[in-house]
Amino acid sequence: MTQIDLTDRTALVTGSTQGIGLAIAVDLARAGASAIVNGRGADGVQRAIDAVREAVPGAQVDGVAADLSTAEGAAAVLDAHPHVDVLVNNLGIFGSRDPFEITDDEWRHYFEVNVLSAVRLIRSYLPAMTEHGYGRVVSIASDSAVVTPAEMIHYGMTKTALLAVTRGFAKAVKGTGVTVNTVIAGPTHTAGVEDFVAEMVGTDLPWDEAQRTFMREHRPQSLVERLLEPEEVAHMVTYLASPLASATTGGALRADGGYVDAILP
Ligand code: NAD
Repeated sequence: MTQIDLTDRTALVTGSTQGIGLAIAVDLARAGASAIVNGRGADGVQRAIDAVREAVPGAQVDGVAADLSTAEGAAAVLDAHPHVDVLVNNLGIFGSRDPFEITDDEWRHYFEVNVLSAVRLIRSYLPAMTEHGYGRVVSIASDSAVVTPAEMIHYGMTKTALLAVTRGFAKAVKGTGVTVNTVIAGPTHTAGVEDFVAEMVGTDLPWDEAQRTFMREHRPQSLVERLLEPEEVAHMVTYLASPLASATTGGALRADGGYVDAILP
């Protein structure tokens, strides 16, 4: 059967009160999954639950407020939801910094938020997934994992690390029916990126022209010559979360608009 059907599957999406994470939660819910959204604050989590329900009437959706950059936050999520069938490590922070000025604490902070948050959940959820004979782990990496910008080395480092974490854990669960993959997302239309586009090309142009100008002038590697919409990244995640993707594991799949100039990622 070629229809994606995640009925009776529970899917946790970290950092999903907005942006790509929220789009992933909506997409998974649309495929029938019972979605669990996450953010640091209860209000944001409730707004995300409402947004999923509005987008997908009748959706099964729950939420958990927890700061996943900490061990306590991970423990709170595991307490609330001891088993999930699909884990999407979407949480990630990014910013531009002069590489010579990034402090030790900033390096550590990026690692804690973008890598360790995912590692803690992967190693906690994987054993039960293997017992059930089904499980999907998808972590959201970035073009910066393989095309490291000089002003985002700290961010790029975390995304490259996720590729290695993914490859290693995929081997650790080989032969169990559980798959572990990353999605390499390209420049995507989110609130933070909207501000960045305004900074780079000004606010005079209508949005569509502004984002296309930004991509042409500042991200000329893109083959689609536009920002991606969060849903376009979400569709790749939903496919990987589904039984249809049973032959894909240990991989880095690109939803990047052709941004990374490589035949294989
Ligand atoms: P965003 O900043 O719009 O959203 C981040 C989400 O994480 C929010 O819901 C926020 O509440 C939550 N969050 C932040 N810190 C948290 C913490 N400590 N604990 C729990 N939740 C926390 O992000 P986005 O642009 O949608 O990016 C999502 C993912 O996609 C990230 O991993 C990012 O690196 C990756 N990515 C984004 C782009 C892009 O262009 N936007 C491109 C490639 C990859």
